[in-house]
Amino acid sequence: MRTSPTDQAQQKLVDRFGRVATDLRVSLTDRCNLRCTYCMPPEGLDWMPGDEVLTDDEVVRLIGVATGRLGVQEVRFTGGEPLVRRGLVSIVARTREVAPDAELSITTNALGLARMAGSLAEAGLDRVNVSLDSIRPETFAEITRRDRLHDVVAGLEAAAEAGLGPIKINAVLLRGVNDDQAAELLGWSVERGYELRFIEQMPLDAQHGWSRDSMVTADDTLAALSAAFDLTPAQEPRGSAPAELFYVDGGPAKVGIIASVTRPFCGDCDRVRLTADGQVRDCLFARSESDLRTPLRAGASDDDLAARWVTAMAGKRAGHGIDDLGFLQPDRPMSAIGG
Ligand code: SAM
Repeated sequence: MRTSPTDQAQQKLVDRFGRVATDLRVSLTDRCNLRCTYCMPPEGLDWMPGDEVLTDDEVVRLIGVATGRLGVQEVRFTGGEPLVRRGLVSIVARTREVAPDAELSITTNALGLARMAGSLAEAGLDRVNVSLDSIRPETFAEITRRDRLHDVVAGLEAAAEAGLGPIKINAVLLRGVNDDQAAELLGWSVERGYELRFIEQMPLDAQHGWSRDSMVTADDTLAALSAAFDLTPAQEPRGSAPAELFYVDGGPAKVGIIASVTRPFCGDCDRVRLTADGQVRDCLFARSESDLRTPLRAGASDDDLAARWVTAMAGKRAGHGIDDLGFLQPDRPMSAIGG
């Protein structure tokens, strides 16, 4: 029998370095309708077999365990592309029921968001993060291998209209492709009231094409932006947020820099991930994961699932280790982990 929130034993997802995970990234599918060159090959990947993917009931049950018993306060749906998951709106609505106080958001490429933003807001979604690497149609198509910039722009507008703000945009800069467009993207975002964040490219691509020498660093990005805007460090405390924030031309508009590679923030990490096939990952770069799907399907109680989740966090490493001599890219690419 399920217990009510008041009589559930409270535990924390604490690791051996004392970090407490309160921010859960839930991947709803490994499939995507774009083919970003830095993420997956043009033909896509071998998608997870359908019977391995958690059902809507299973996803909501695990989120309920995380928010009801394990202190998770934020749930971010991601993928793959979460908008292609049939049942997304219902998953959001049911999550809102089991986690009335949690912050619910989605990371999306925004294709189809124009159609879905209203129902997602009604279902209880708080806000969206939209990925957009260029506002030039030809560069967008070069990066994503799809001519769909207009859909993203329409999706952003619909999200704003539906009250899914503050709207954040995530951008990855690639050398020789869009690294000359950082200031343009920032100007465009500021004009529309979107908060732009640049994320350093990480070694998580299915093709293993990442190279430290060619990646655009946070310093490169700051230099490019500073040539066009006056950037001053934002005063607010950063906490566990991955982005370093800067006021643009005195504010209130801000831009964020997420220097995952060159200035890692693992010491303040408060994230934990659940893959679409029910594996807990304590880090994007984890080399091992903990299976919750098998016990879930074998009839485990919420107590048992919570205990397994707590144990899963014990092995979280101090840092992602990209700079370690023996660094090995995780077996799963970003699209199958959930970015
Ligand atoms: N499809 C959704 C989207 O586009 O936002 C969610 C999943 S996608 C993997 C999440 C984010 O990861 C996107 O902003 C994408 O640009 C970013 N991403 C993918 N591969 C990356 C990499 N190797 N390094 C840094 N960011 C990456």
